[in-house]
Parts: sequence; C-alpha cells; structure tokens
Amino acid sequence: MQIHQYDVVIVGAGGAGMRAALESSTRVRTAVISKLYPTRSHTGAAQGGMCAALANVEEDNWEWHTFDTVKGGDYLVDQDAAEVMAKEAIDAVLDLEKMGLPFNRTPEGRIDQRRFGGHTRNHGEAAVRRSCYAADRTGHMILQTLYQQCVKNEVEFFNEFYVLDLLVDHDLAAGHVPEGEEVTVSGVVAYELATGEIHVFRAKSVVLATGGAGKIFKTTSNAHTLTGDGMALAYRRGIPLEDMEFFQFHPTGLAGLGILLSEAARGEGAILRNSEGERFMERYAPTIKDLAPRDIVARSMANEVREGRGAGPNKDYVLLDLTHLEPAHIDAKLPDITEFARTYLGVEPYTEPVPVYPTAHYAMGGVPTNIEAQVLRNETDVIRGLFAAGEVACVSVHGSNRLGTNSLLDINVFGKRAGISAAAYAVDAEFVELPEDPAATVTAGLELIRTRPDGERVADIRKALQESMDLNAQVFRTKESLTQALEDIKALRKRYLSVSVQDKSRTFNTDLLEAVELGFLIDIAETVVVGALNREESRGGHFREDFPKRDDEGFMKHTMAYRRPLPTDGHRQWGGGDGDTEGRFAYSEVFDDYQLVLGSKPVTMTRYQPMERKY
Ligand SMILES: Cc1cc2nc3c(=O)[nH]c(=O)nc-3n(C[C@H](O)[C@H](O)[C@H](O)COP(=O)(O)OP(=O)(O)OC[C@H]3O[C@@H](n4cnc5c(N)ncnc54)[C@H](O)[C@@H]3O)c2cc1C
Repeated sequence: MQIHQYDVVIVGAGGAGMRAALESSTRVRTAVISKLYPTRSHTGAAQGGMCAALANVEEDNWEWHTFDTVKGGDYLVDQDAAEVMAKEAIDAVLDLEKMGLPFNRTPEGRIDQRRFGGHTRNHGEAAVRRSCYAADRTGHMILQTLYQQCVKNEVEFFNEFYVLDLLVDHDLAAGHVPEGEEVTVSGVVAYELATGEIHVFRAKSVVLATGGAGKIFKTTSNAHTLTGDGMALAYRRGIPLEDMEFFQFHPTGLAGLGILLSEAARGEGAILRNSEGERFMERYAPTIKDLAPRDIVARSMANEVREGRGAGPNKDYVLLDLTHLEPAHIDAKLPDITEFARTYLGVEPYTEPVPVYPTAHYAMGGVPTNIEAQVLRNETDVIRGLFAAGEVACVSVHGSNRLGTNSLLDINVFGKRAGISAAAYAVDAEFVELPEDPAATVTAGLELIRTRPDGERVADIRKALQESMDLNAQVFRTKESLTQALEDIKALRKRYLSVSVQDKSRTFNTDLLEAVELGFLIDIAETVVVGALNREESRGGHFREDFPKRDDEGFMKHTMAYRRPLPTDGHRQWGGGDGDTEGRFAYSEVFDDYQLVLGSKPVTMTRYQPMERKY
C-alpha cells in the first residue's frame, strides 16, 4: 500500500475534473485520479454543443437562458444556481476560446451558434440560436483543449487508478454523528489497474467529478464506464443523493442500439416522423415542435409507438428525417452522427430517414451541492472538504429535465467553481487523521470477489438489472412497474453477494473492477427506483402513468436519499443528531442490512413562479 498526500485530490478527468484541476493546481498541490486515460472520458463523446447567451447571431441574453433552464427543468431547478450558470456561461465559452478551442465560426469570424431544444427567445416566443459548437464533436474539442492546458500547467495525473472509497471522519451510513459535530473528508482509496496495488490519497479537499450512471439501463447513449461510482461512494458513506428518480431519456438514440444522434440534427432542421410520414411533434408542441425539451419529445415518440404509429417491421421506432437538408450542409455540421447511422444501421441519411428511439442519457440527480460546489450532508450543512461538479453532482441546475447543451456548460462553470472552492478550503484547513487501516474495507471487498472459487457471473446480474430498468423504469412508469423493479433489484443484490470473476490475477484485472462497478450500479438503480416510487406525480423526465399531472403542492421539493443503519426498535425511526429530524422524511425502504430513507430539500426560487409547461 502506498500513501500519497495532496492538498486537493480530484476524482475524475472528464470536463468537470480537468476544469477544476486548472483552477486548483495553480493555487495548491493537486492530483487528478482517473479510472480512464483523461481523453477517453465521456465528455469526449458529447456532440452537439455548449450554450451561452453570446448573442452572436441573434438577440439573446442570460436572463432568457435562465428562464429556459428553469422552465425546461419543470420548475424543480434551484434558480440561484441556474442564474449563476447562465451568467457565467459567456466567460466559460470565452475561456475555452482563449485556450484554443476551434469553435465553428460565422462568416464574420464570430463563434457560430445553433438551435437546441427548449432554448428560446423572450421566454418561449421562438427557438433561439444559443449553442456554440465544433461540428458534432464539441465535447471532443473541450476535452482535448482542457487536457492540453492541464499538460501545459503540469497537473499531476494518476491514470487508470480506480477510486473505490471515500474517507471521512464520521461514517453517516453507520450511525449518528453527535449533535453539532462536523463531518470532514480525509482522502480517498484507489486501486491501480496495472499493478493491483492499493493507494491511499490523503487530502484536505476531495472533488468528485466522476460523471454519470447511464449503465443502470440497457439502452443508453452512455459509455460502459459510466457506472455512477462517485454517487455510490458518497451514498455508501451516508451522504444523500438528490433527485435520483429524474433520468433523462434522449429522444434520438439509434433504434435498438441507443447510440446517440445529437439533438443538433434537429437543431439543423431534421424532423421526426411517424409511420404515416406525419410530423407528429406539431401535435404535442405546436410552437417549437421538434425542438421541444427532451422529456416531451421522448414521451411523444414513445406514445406514437404505443398508439400503433411506429415505423419498421415491428412498429417500434420513429424516423428522423434529414433528407431535405443539403448533403454539403450535413457533411459540414453533422459529419460524425450521420456516419454512425451508416456504420451501425446501414442507413444513408442523405436519402433515407434514420430509425430512432429514446435512449437513457443523463442523470439529473446526484451528489447534492450548493453553488460553491460544496457537498451537502442534509438540507443545509456541508461535509467539510468535499466538493462535487459535473454529472455526478446535483446543484441543481437541471431540475427534473436538462436542456441540451446545458451539461457541457455545467461542467465548465461548476468545474471551475469546484476547483476554486477546493483550493480555497485547502489553504486554510489542516489535514485530518486518516482512519487506522484506511484501505481495510476496499482490500477485503476486492479479495473476497477475486478469490471466490465460483459464483454468480457479473454479466448475468448486470444484464438482468439493465433489462428490468429498461422495462420498468424508463419513459413511462407506474407503481406496479416500479415495484417490480425494486423487487428485482433486491433479488439481484442478494445474488451479488456471491459474485465471482474468472480472472484471478492481480494485474490488469478489469473483470474484478467490473464486478465492483456492478455493485455501484445496483446502489444507484435502487435510489432511482425508490425515489420514483415515492414521487407520485409526473414532472420533467419522471412520468408516472398513474399520476400523470405535476403536483406542486405535494412534490415541489427535491428528493434526498440517505443510506442509514437498520432501525433497531422494529420501526423506521432513526432520529436526529446529525442535522436531520424524523419528521422531514416521507418514506423509507428496508434492505437486508441497511435502510434507504427518503427526505426532501426545498427548491430555491428567486424570480420565476411555477407555471404550466407548454411549448
Ligand atoms: C453521447 C453523448 C453526447 C452528449 N452530448 C452533449 C452535448 O452535445 N452537449 C452537452 O451539454 N452535453 C452532452 N452530453 C452530456 C455531457 O457530455 C456529460 O454530462 C458531461 O460531459 C459529463 O462530464 P463529467 O466531467 O461530469 O464526466 P465524464 O466526462 O464522464 O468524466 C468522468 C471521469 O470520472 C472518472 N471516473 C469515474 N469513476 C471513477 C472512479 N471510480 N475512480 C477514478 N476515476 C473515475 C473517469 O475516468 C472520467 O475521467 C452528452 C453525453 C453523451 C453520453
């Protein structure tokens, strides 16, 4: 076991992690730990763009952007956070431009902008051109640009190191913290892929920037590595997860595969059609049609299929029509995604419509933070020294549904803020004592799986989990379907206790790590489903057929999911002492050796009162 010591440790080298590193590394000693080589992070797969009200091609301002974000998120957005993001968007884009990012340009040489769903002029009048882009490779360009800057600034990377535990001085999941006591982070434990060695990183500040969790679903646009690690690490220490029931299903995944075709296609003029050739979005969102927010488009598509107007031999998808666009325009603006259609479906987008269906895309929920990126341990108190930014976090700028191009923005704005906050905290703070044997839990867990002679296969459990989530917790949900999903998860959790791997080696054992990641997926799926069962309303990405209306009276609040010890006195009470009181919790679900307790957190409103959401 090796022990390292840094002022700031950043977990994750995607857009959020590297943007944080650029701030933190110039101020204090910083390390970035990443399970992937940095330029393989999922940020590099982002296609369509990053928005900011630059007003380069038509009138725009950050207040309209704030409003669109709040309305797009079905009013569950914390409005102070949305204001920060929309205001700081402009500098975030200009910062990247100064770092050398090759944005597409207007003929006059300004950064070009295109349309994206839910971004409008003057509070919904018409679609506005707000998204800055580099063809359909915007994320790739952002990731490469940030990495180059990190290399230039000599940021220290630990690549192909898997962080498997978060060290804190009080484990909230194990019991109570005495009244008035702070909870402080002391570091992380990581596993080095190449050697199988364990590394303990002692740190004053830890920034979680581990990205999303799309792999809880079978049909997803997400990379195989998006297994919700950072969320699960926090949850296992009793740090709450916020709004996990809200998962975004992107309308245009390649049918049957889930590979993403960016909304930029519709931004550039592509149209969704059903089997009758009808432009059906005219019926669902008469004003902005195909450029309505993703939750609305995805539901409309699923509804067309349900009502028998799906295309193809099984009538199970709809069509994305680009055939009226000039081939030269397609080649200039959408080269990669049209190539995906040719490669994976054998369809020529110049002349044929492309089969598409919703695909699990983005986690709106995550580790709760305030606008300084500090992680919350309940409604108000922070964990000292712990920060989070990017898809792992819930600040919450996306509320119950994220607008396209707001995530590349989120990772830049709040990544930067996290880096500044983490460094500022580390300047004044002292290192906290590490626990006695800091790697004990991780080592024991890994050895148990690695040496188990035989047992359940990782791939079988993962497939069963993903299939149940696709079937029961996708675009349409009911009490019955979610209860089924929860039952499945409980059964899979039992099977997971005897999981084993074929590769017994100590080096480059990716089998072993996949087994660990499967454990994270089960944790995350459980918070999604329990949150969805409890939320008896429909809002944004969460649609309950048995409760099809938004219910502001009952549910205009964030969900907070806490892992806590089992009740000792036979009922669910576990009571105060760490800032939470029994009365605020709506619901708890008992698992074999712990319970998941749901609480809530108020939504921060500044200037926008909730309205009915029409487009
Ligand atoms: C196909 C696709 C297209 C998209 N297009 C757009 C778009 O056009 N516009 C937009 O705004 N958004 C888009 N998004 C969403 C957006 O790209 C992501 O939400 C965002 O890039 C996430 O960035 P991140 O830095 O939070 O995480 P990521 O870029 O996913 O990085 C996560 C990092 O964490 C590391 N990590 C994870 N677990 C561990 C661990 N246990 N130990 C150590 N390291 C770990 C990984 O190695 C990686 O470096 C798209 C997403 C997808 C999937």
